[in-house]
Amino acid sequence: MEANTQATGSAAGRLSVLAAQRIVLDHVAPAASETVRLEASLGRVLAEEVRANRDQPPYDVSAMDGFALRAGDLAAIPATLVVVEDIKAGDRPTKTVGPGQCVRIMTGAPIPAGADAVIRVEDTHTLADGRVEISTRVAPGNDIRPRGENMRTGEIVLTPGTEITPGVIGLLATVKRAQVDVVRRPRVAILSTGDELEGLDEPFDPEKIPNSNSYALMAQLQALGIEPVLLGIARDDPEDLARHLKAGLEHDVLLVSGGSSVGVHDFVRPMLATLNVEMHFWRVEMRPGHPVAFGTRNGTLVFGLPGNPVSSMVCFEQFVAPALRRRLGHPRLFRRTATARLTHALGNRPGRTEFVRVVLAPDSAGGLTASSTGNQSSGVLRSMAVANALLVLPASGAQLTAGEMVTVQLLDGTSYQHEPGFEETA
Ligand code: AMP
Ligand code: MG
Repeated sequence: MEANTQATGSAAGRLSVLAAQRIVLDHVAPAASETVRLEASLGRVLAEEVRANRDQPPYDVSAMDGFALRAGDLAAIPATLVVVEDIKAGDRPTKTVGPGQCVRIMTGAPIPAGADAVIRVEDTHTLADGRVEISTRVAPGNDIRPRGENMRTGEIVLTPGTEITPGVIGLLATVKRAQVDVVRRPRVAILSTGDELEGLDEPFDPEKIPNSNSYALMAQLQALGIEPVLLGIARDDPEDLARHLKAGLEHDVLLVSGGSSVGVHDFVRPMLATLNVEMHFWRVEMRPGHPVAFGTRNGTLVFGLPGNPVSSMVCFEQFVAPALRRRLGHPRLFRRTATARLTHALGNRPGRTEFVRVVLAPDSAGGLTASSTGNQSSGVLRSMAVANALLVLPASGAQLTAGEMVTVQLLDGTSYQHEPGFEETA
């Protein structure tokens, strides 16, 4: 199988980003469900169908503060009506509205028998004797919210796979779901590797490389609603690495940063193999991120992410995030893409799909412009930190000029789509 050839790093069968994404997603299924309190369900994905448990509203109610009346009584205007009752939300009417009569009614209060319309208080005039004078006609049904307008008993109001947004929380509260079944969140571990790395809380040494990847990856996970386990730094030493990898493999997903390249101290892939991780690919025709690796052991997904800070983040976006979103039960796995107008020339060497850090801005025509955020070295995290999108340059090696339309992957916001949204021409 092509993927296995890739796992060994053979030159045969170069793997595109889209093909690698498919291999990853073929190894992921949505997790089982668990029950959580409604208050803790924001951002989770519904694992059950939810039906209405009553008609809502339970009876016809007034949409306005005003008067409930018989629309036919306004055939000749101005009309003067006698107020027979006051009804507020939560009251039950006790009187039937007869000809020449009305009730004073508040928003959400039930419409009394006999009345067929509401006129808002602003369109009425209360006379000194307490009667109301009305000079505007209203049609039957005016400003009445019919019973069951929002939902009918037994009707399906939410389906599995729905992301729980504030509006969905409101709907769940409407049907009195104090507890809801949601898809379980995976337990994700992050391990950084490298003798040169200095931990966030370790003493400052100007010659060391600060471990930024663990934290950038942590934040990428948190943005997906996952609180990861930080396993710290493994040294480029087989024993220390094995110990840390074993701990990592106890989780549903393990992200290993660094050590999966071709250096003599890059022990991650051989060590994973020793620990019975089946590798499905290594190396994808992309820039940055070429040395990315993916494997599985039983149900555990293992991503070998390149150590360069931008490569790590870009590979997370292309492979880890879609996998986790599928695991979390989301139907939309991929960052939303858009079309933008390039503000400068841009080229790509042929062979690899390139993800260029850009900033998008609105243009005067209602579209978007895309401009590089600067040095595109995979070690320059600063140009990633200020980017709000990744421009996808096809592997064809096209030379783009200013003004050309390009595809960009949006990094801000929480909107995702069903398809990757870009093509890769080799
Ligand atoms: P590697 O993939 O281990 O060959 O590392 C590639 C580059 O990324 C090297 O310059 C490393 O120093 C750097 N790097 C590796 N891990 C991290 C990390 N956790 N945080 C920041 N930079 C890293
Ligand atoms: Mg390393």
